[in-house]
Amino acid sequence: MKLHEYQSKAIFAQYGVPIPNGKVASNADEARQIAAQLNKRVVIKSQVLVGGRGKAGGIKVANDPDEAEQLADQILAMKIKGLPVRKVLVDEAIHIAKEIYLGVVVDRAAKCATMIGSAAGGMEIEEVARTTPEKIVRIKIDSAYGLLEYQARALAFALGIDKTLVRDFTAIATGLYRAFVATDATLAEINPLAVTAENKLIAADGKIVLDDNALYRHPDLEQLRDIDEESSEEQRARNAGLSYVKLDGDIGCMVNGAGLAMATMDVIKFYGGAPANFLDIGGGAKADKVKTALEIILSDPNVKCVLFNIFGGITRGDEVARGVVEGLKGIKTRVPMVARIVGTNAEEGRRILADANMMTAETLEEGAQKAVAAAKRMQ
Ligand code: GDP
Ligand code: MN
Repeated sequence: MKLHEYQSKAIFAQYGVPIPNGKVASNADEARQIAAQLNKRVVIKSQVLVGGRGKAGGIKVANDPDEAEQLADQILAMKIKGLPVRKVLVDEAIHIAKEIYLGVVVDRAAKCATMIGSAAGGMEIEEVARTTPEKIVRIKIDSAYGLLEYQARALAFALGIDKTLVRDFTAIATGLYRAFVATDATLAEINPLAVTAENKLIAADGKIVLDDNALYRHPDLEQLRDIDEESSEEQRARNAGLSYVKLDGDIGCMVNGAGLAMATMDVIKFYGGAPANFLDIGGGAKADKVKTALEIILSDPNVKCVLFNIFGGITRGDEVARGVVEGLKGIKTRVPMVARIVGTNAEEGRRILADANMMTAETLEEGAQKAVAAAKRMQ
């Protein structure tokens, strides 16, 4: 789950990271009032959960409350990369002399948290990594010790931070790491960490991505979820306890198990098809869950065929098949369906599904090929 800039910065501030004075507004009038209170030049910043807002025209400087109102009005009418802007952050404007990138990520390869810094801040770090990888400095953090003072100092020197600012920089780096750990984030990033014309360090932007699997430990953070940023299908799936990710293809996938779902998508691709979604219905496959999952899959107009890939293990194949048939009741659709089912009581399961007018398959290869062919026929 991604947090907005204003939410991320508020968390950073709790850990001693300096942020500009400012407040979030939902309409132009509020933006004007905040600008009047700050009584300075302000920046009006669109709050959408994508990067590159600056380039897209979603960040503008206003000289007075009138201009703040006018620009907020403009920005609130925008869509950035398809996302509607519903809030703007009104921050006091800062004079940026230099932009630094500072972030912490879960580094799966190194099995630890890694702090990443770059003197080429401001632009997206992926771009820097691609074009000028030598400008990126990485520091592995041992979770038992946390970010050590000497590591933060070494990073400051590597980034060419002015020596009068090294102490402040180490406090910011330490605070950022602590915020990352405390929120169970997979990413906490300040881009840019601005060096101002007055030679101060301040977080001009902020981004936190939380680990969904740890959200149960943070009911307060769960409250920050912006439901606007999730499609209604994704919301429905989450509420039903299904893992669902929409994709661009035309073959809907309904699979019991995440690894099996990944394999299913791979095999569909291998046979020249394209999955319309990732969907793990989990164990058990009760009829109501199957029904919800199917409704979600079929709500995507691109779907030309649905492939069920079921592994009967502890949950027997015939049980799952009955759940599927039960779930199909009450759903009117002409989309063809292919079921591949293996494992305990697979044969009986297949018979049940064949009786319900589904194409069946014994192997995933066969199932995927049938689904790809059926989807082609429907075009
Ligand atoms: P992003 O484009 O979505 O990453 O949004 P940022 O918050 O990083 O803003 C993009 C760019 O706008 C920054 O790199 C800065 O160059 C500029 N910017 C943001 N806030 C301010 C500010 O308060 N003052 C000035 N002068 N520039 C700013
Ligand atoms: Mn940024």
